[in-house]
This record gives sequence, C-alpha cells and structure tokens, in this order.
Amino acid sequence: KGLIDVRDMGVTFGANDNKIIAVDNVSLNVQPGEFVSLIGPSGCGKSTLLSIVAGFVKPTSGDAKLDGNAITKPGSDRGVVFQQYSLFPWLSVRKNVEFGLKMAGLEQSKRNTTARALLDLAELLSFENHYPDQLSGGMKQRIGIVRALATSPQVLLMDEPFGALDTQTRVVMQEILTNIWQQFKISVLFITHDIEESIFLSDRIYVMTARPGRIKAEIKVPLPRPRR
Ligand code: ADP
Ligand code: ADP
Repeated sequence: KGLIDVRDMGVTFGANDNKIIAVDNVSLNVQPGEFVSLIGPSGCGKSTLLSIVAGFVKPTSGDAKLDGNAITKPGSDRGVVFQQYSLFPWLSVRKNVEFGLKMAGLEQSKRNTTARALLDLAELLSFENHYPDQLSGGMKQRIGIVRALATSPQVLLMDEPFGALDTQTRVVMQEILTNIWQQFKISVLFITHDIEESIFLSDRIYVMTARPGRIKAEIKVPLPRPRR
C-alpha cells in the first residue's frame, strides 16, 4: 500500500492488427514523501503510466489509486510537469502559477498572494509579469514546477521535466527539485531515461523494458545519496 498504488495495470492501444500493448501487468507504489523514478527506453510505457496516475488516460485493466481512492480524472491533488509546453505562452508568469488556483475556485486576491509567495520562494518574483517566451528553459521549468505546486498537491508527477535542458542547467534543476521536494515533503513520481539523474534524485527506481512495457527491476537507492 502506498499513497499512489498502481495494481496489475494493463494498457493497450488500437485493435486487432494494430494492437499495441503499451503497459503489461505493471504494479508500483509511491509512499508518502517518497521520490520514485520510472526509467526505461523510449516506448516502454512510462508516459502512459504517468498519464493514468494523472487521470488523463484510462487503463485497459487493473487500477490506479491515490490515497485509497480510484483515480478517474485529473485533480488538484496531483501536480503535473511535462518536458515541454508546461506553461501557457499567452499568460504571464504569475497568471500561469495562478491557473490551477483559478480552477480550484480561489478568489483573485488569494490567487495573487499564493502565486507571488511561491514565485518569491523560487526567486522568480521579479519575473511575474514576464511571458514564458521571454525566459530561459530552466526558468520555464522552475515556473512549471511552482505552478504544479500551487494547489498544494499530494504528489508531483513529472514526465522528463529536464529532458530538453542543457547538461549544466539540468544539474542545477536537479538540485532545485531536491530542495523543493525536501521543503514541501511531497511525493514525486519522476520519469527519465537518464539513469544518473534517477540515482541522484530518487529513493527508489523502477526499471522498465519495452514491447510490452513491463517492470523488470526495482532498485532502492542507498543512503547517503551520491553527491556531485
Ligand atoms: P515512453 O514514455 O516510455 O516513451 P509511452 O508511454 O509514450 O512510452 O508509449 C508506450 C507505447 O504506447 C509506445 O509503443 C507508444 O507508441 C504507444 N502509445 C502511447 N500513446 C499512444 C496512443 N495514444 N495511441 C497509440 N499508441 C500509443
Ligand atoms: P484577472 O485575473 O481578473 O485578470 P489580475 O491578476 O490582472 O486579474 O488583477 C487582479 C487584481 O490584482 C487587480 O486589482 C490588480 O491591481 C492586482 N494586481 C495585479 N498585479 C499585481 C501585483 N503584482 N501585485 C499586487 N497586486 C496585483
């Protein structure tokens, strides 16, 4: 049992001759406050699994639960960060962070206060009225993370969030994410195909294989964590 519980999950796309088994009988869990990575080659079903936990995709068999409740749709209890397009280009930085709070029905003054406090924490408050296109890739992803945290979710779901960044920025972002994770005491399910990144960040790693997508190993990362 975990905060996130995926049990005997199967996902197939298409039918008959075009049938693809994207995920085959996968079970995994994420404990409260735990940082868990999902690694494996392209096409092994990582994004599909994360999309199910996010509530964007329905499984063909098995189920996914959050805190004991079946996941059927997206919700503010799960913050999601993607590799790209995490921000709305037509909204200012602050409006991006406020977005989820607006969906959650918070009034403008509360949205504004919450968003500004989070931006301050991320040292991005001076950019609140900038637009995403005016910022570097690393800054955009920092704002993406802040935006995902705005509704105080129980878990962060991250799909290769640093995949498009250069090595140097990526390393900085890994450290920032570690700080955020410790500060917010939040559970994280993190997708990467970079084994080094997963070892640096995670408590536990699930290793997947493709065609069909299965978990072939589970690794507990020993403490103390490797340092750079
Ligand atoms: P990963 O994130 O590990 O790269 P994905 O979860 O994106 O893997 O994809 C797993 C498999 O499912 C791949 O073969 C992919 O082509 C297929 N797939 C994913 N989404 C869809 C979809 N919406 N329709 C058809 N096939 C899909
Ligand atoms: P809306 O969501 O309706 O577009 P805005 O966020 O543009 O609203 O503005 C809502 C209120 O917040 C306005 O009264 C505005 O003056 C105030 N406001 C906007 N930006 C800031 C800021 N940086 N600091 C404090 N208050 C602000």
